[in-house]
Amino acid sequence: MKYHLVTLGCPKNKVDSDGIEMLLRGADYLPTDRQQDADVLIVNTCGFLEAAKEESIGVLQELGRRKRKHQILVAAGCLVQRNGAEVLDRVPRVDGLLGTRRWMDVLELIGQVRGGKQRRRLERYALLGDAPAGDAELLGGVPALLGDPTTAFTAATPRPPVMAGSAYLKISDGCNAPCAFCTIPSFKGKLRSRPLEAIVDEAAALVDAGARELVVVAQDTTDYGRDWGEPNSLPRLLSAICNRTDDRLKWVRLMYAYPGHVSDELVEVMAGQAKIVPYLDMPLQHGDPRTLRRMRRPSKLEMVYDHMEKLRRAMPDIALRTTFIVGYPGETEEEFQGLLDFARAIEFDKVGAFPFSPEPGTPSAELPDQVPDEVKQERYARLMEQQQPISLRKNQAMVGRMLDVLVEGEGEIEGSGEPLLLARSYRDAPEIDGLVLVPGVRDVPAGSMIQVHINGAMEYDLVGEPLAGEVFSSKRSAIELG
Ligand code: SF4
Repeated sequence: MKYHLVTLGCPKNKVDSDGIEMLLRGADYLPTDRQQDADVLIVNTCGFLEAAKEESIGVLQELGRRKRKHQILVAAGCLVQRNGAEVLDRVPRVDGLLGTRRWMDVLELIGQVRGGKQRRRLERYALLGDAPAGDAELLGGVPALLGDPTTAFTAATPRPPVMAGSAYLKISDGCNAPCAFCTIPSFKGKLRSRPLEAIVDEAAALVDAGARELVVVAQDTTDYGRDWGEPNSLPRLLSAICNRTDDRLKWVRLMYAYPGHVSDELVEVMAGQAKIVPYLDMPLQHGDPRTLRRMRRPSKLEMVYDHMEKLRRAMPDIALRTTFIVGYPGETEEEFQGLLDFARAIEFDKVGAFPFSPEPGTPSAELPDQVPDEVKQERYARLMEQQQPISLRKNQAMVGRMLDVLVEGEGEIEGSGEPLLLARSYRDAPEIDGLVLVPGVRDVPAGSMIQVHINGAMEYDLVGEPLAGEVFSSKRSAIELG
């Protein structure tokens, strides 16, 4: 049996896809890149923004169009959780729906779809008496697992794979924040934290499987534990992960922090535990209090300045990343200027931005004074233009330093064909930030960690050269690690 899995959207979705794959492989399914060879086709959809939703529907329609009779098409993920009925309406060839909280029941869903198909076949020959019991949960006549999980997050939850020495570690799901533009709480529900012991066990198992880096993710990592009445449990969790894993684990990276949830204890643990990299991603969404209030986000900028100052004082080398939305409804030129001033004052190392997109069903979509698209684009360009010299300056400050880098793979320099090693330093989150490019080196296995001397900087990437002998020793240790 073979499966063909397409994953769309953010790293959190990828973690769920990794779990789905583990379960399928455990049931002797093999992966295939070729749709025509697969018995089961799965699309893990994204429903966060309108464009992402349309992309998900497009992929499902394409697979549905070419689907053969014996094949099963499963729609999974955020869009399904958000609006499974619409998915069925627009892609009638979908055979089963799997919500974000039920990915661990993928095999059960496949069983239900198969049972349903068999039942219909038998019905055709009036042999219903022998058909499998039809106890599937249905939506529009199609098996749909969308409700709360029968299998909660446990130690037994399959762990995601390690890719190039790095693995995601999901610590909770859902979100308690009231952000007016976000659909996630409407389909993921309130925050539910995984048991601490289960996460620590998973971290240790990932290290055994070759992880040098663990990337801690959730909708809001800094709210971990609130659902069991201990809202500041993240420092305890991070300490437990660091203490339970041996020194094969080099980096623990924290993503998706929420302003107001970065406690002194968290800063202390980040600064005190050598394995936690001085890096923090805190999506702030805007930098003007008026816009932030309409977004239903924390609007006290002094608090954010205070967080940044504490983080930088405790970890002078910290790389700070944030994300902004430009062109939010009602954003005046003055408010946008407030955002520019704020971003310039903080001098983030890395900034991501996207133009506001009204999501049906969110309060933001109903707000008056929607900003025209051309204004959004123009503001996006101005924000990124302001940020580029800041990021460049921050990168230039790394020139002359020795950095440990995690090798992701290798390529070639365009034109010359010279080999080029692609790696990341502690300053770069996988799939989001830049790279450290190491020209002239080949055959270092992905997942190795080597030291490089940084001798060049660009806006997004650094350039480096390895220390003499370093490549050989890391290659050998990577081989020894298996
Ligand atoms: S914190 Fe993030 S996930 Fe939670 S509601 Fe706000 S934008 Fe959505």
